[in-house]
Amino acid sequence: MSEVPEPAAALLKALHYAADLHKDGRRKGKAGEPYVNHVIEVAELLARVGDVHDVAILQAAVLHDVVEDTEASFEDVERAFGPEVRRIVEEVSDDKTLPREERKRLQVEKAPALSAAAKMVKIADKISNVCALMHSPPSEWTDERRLEYLVWSARVVDGCRGCNPRLESYYDKALAQCRTLLDGTP
Ligand code: ZN
Repeated sequence: MSEVPEPAAALLKALHYAADLHKDGRRKGKAGEPYVNHVIEVAELLARVGDVHDVAILQAAVLHDVVEDTEASFEDVERAFGPEVRRIVEEVSDDKTLPREERKRLQVEKAPALSAAAKMVKIADKISNVCALMHSPPSEWTDERRLEYLVWSARVVDGCRGCNPRLESYYDKALAQCRTLLDGTP
């Protein structure tokens, strides 16, 4: 029996940790997917599309919403996964004490100053969200609200450009597809 390589074990630890914390979380879309599907998708996009193999970045991708959306703290993340993973998670987490519009404004404002690792996680996160908006939009969201989300996410991604051309063009394709779907024009 071959031994599980250390990076795989490290990534599995993050997956287990995130799955546990997000166990009651569901995505907002009408399909109501388990929330953990989203963070797995973000990490998978980074590895497959972005060709990212740095374990700390992939772990941070898996953990990117645990502080924002569960009771975990940045200290908890650091204790379990070290300072590098914590730093990336911290960079991509919104301050939930702020109103939604302010959080959205700050994401646009802060994007250009993020580390390359955090920028890549952000872009993969936006790809996952744009795809979800296409395939399983929240039922109460109007087309206008969906369009607003797309415009905003594009502004965040614009601030992250220059770190990973493959992820960036994948985002552009997802955005164009989603816009076409909303416009109803081919
Ligand atoms: Zn996310």
